[in-house]
Amino acid sequence: MTAVLEARSLDAGYGAGSTVVRSLDLEVHEGEIVALLGPNGAGKTTTLNTLCGELAPLGGDVVLHGRTVTGPLHERARLGLGLVAEERAVLTSMSVTDNLRVTRADPDRAFALFPELQAHARRQVGLLSGGQQQMLALAIALSRPTTVLLADELSLGLAPLIVDRLLRALRDAADSGVAVLLVEQHIAKAMAVADRAYVMRRGQIEVSGTATELRGRLVEIQESYLEAHPTTISNGSAPA
Ligand code: ATP
Repeated sequence: MTAVLEARSLDAGYGAGSTVVRSLDLEVHEGEIVALLGPNGAGKTTTLNTLCGELAPLGGDVVLHGRTVTGPLHERARLGLGLVAEERAVLTSMSVTDNLRVTRADPDRAFALFPELQAHARRQVGLLSGGQQQMLALAIALSRPTTVLLADELSLGLAPLIVDRLLRALRDAADSGVAVLLVEQHIAKAMAVADRAYVMRRGQIEVSGTATELRGRLVEIQESYLEAHPTTISNGSAPA
């Protein structure tokens, strides 16, 4: 399988003296979902922000389609990288259709991915539910020429059924060839759609493996969460 996105010996953080991620190696291949798991503060978002170009690496390389990239997010977007971040990347004062237009997303593809958005095409996005806004953010990312998608906590604050819907759309995207790196607090849900996973702790990869292998170690993995954040995981779900 082809590695679409790689971190090679990546150090990341917020300037000298505040290195958060150390010597991180990871790969995301065409057509797979890779879950990046870990307790709060492990460095998942810092990793994603460095992979997408929002943060400059403090060491090592980010490699996209076999080439080291150093430019900002918009340059990486032109190379096929898409990002759906914790804060929903939609323009709330505009309609759904205008959001698709200004982001150069393909509306037919977007509405095919999320037919439930069609009825709201002319509505101001700020009036949509959180779940609908997140569907739109994902629809935008997936209806552009995206070859690798970074998804950071796209389920944050959303109802389980909506989370399932979003994760299913990610699975479909991966099945059609997109490489997906997924940061997700709902471990069980993430592991249900992932092909592989990395578990981070204190800025380093502590465990990695195929989803099949790691599903058998979910309790151990969840315990690593429990240690750092006692209320997050008891049954694979985040607290309401
Ligand atoms: P969570 O699951 O809580 O989002 P995370 O694994 O994504 O956690 P990060 O958000 O990457 O972790 O944070 C890793 C560390 O970096 C934390 O100690 C955090 O306080 C620190 N950090 C995050 N953002 C900044 C910033 N802008 N400036 C300085 N330190 C930061």
